[in-house]
Amino acid sequence: MKNECSIVRDILPLYVEDMVSADTSAFVEEHLEKCAECREEWKNLKKPGGFEPTATDIQNKDAEPLKVFKKKWTKRNRIMIATTVIATALIVLLGCCFIGTGFLKRNDVFLVDYSVSEDGTEITLHTGIASSMGYTRGFKDNGGGEKPHYLTFYATFGGLNSTFGAKREFELELDKTDTEIWFNRADGGYELVLQKNETTGEWVRPAK
Ligand SMILES: [Zn+2]
Repeated sequence: MKNECSIVRDILPLYVEDMVSADTSAFVEEHLEKCAECREEWKNLKKPGGFEPTATDIQNKDAEPLKVFKKKWTKRNRIMIATTVIATALIVLLGCCFIGTGFLKRNDVFLVDYSVSEDGTEITLHTGIASSMGYTRGFKDNGGGEKPHYLTFYATFGGLNSTFGAKREFELELDKTDTEIWFNRADGGYELVLQKNETTGEWVRPAK
């Protein structure tokens, strides 16, 4: 028996880890049934701190991937929510500027001064505003070439009195066939501010 015991003791650590063949396992079990000493040794090996994983070990192992996944998911979720909130805020803000006050027309823009480039392809318009408040951001050109330049001016972003995007000088490309530049007015019409003198080819203010 002594000899078999020492063999079983050698095998036991592997046996409790379930790392032995079916034959060896049967041999160990058979021996444990009849040998109290080896059975005691086997129980000791099975105890917590031995080779057998405890119930909590198993639980933790199972829970870990889920925890990691949850953590990752929440982090990704937070980033997504934050991005959505920021994007929405930006869209709303830009929407207010563009659709709201940003496209407000200025009907009181007047021509202060102007200069035509030497090659005659561009005119710089220095503008002012009749009202005591407000700024101009830009204009839309509904003409040129065959048609006179009908310029519609727009207020700065964020309202009449905002300086955001404010400009006083505007460049307008000129076509050789261009003859007139008009500014938009409150009644929806336009006022002639500059015309090309047919004989001299110079841009001048219309005679009043
Ligand atoms: Zn034994």
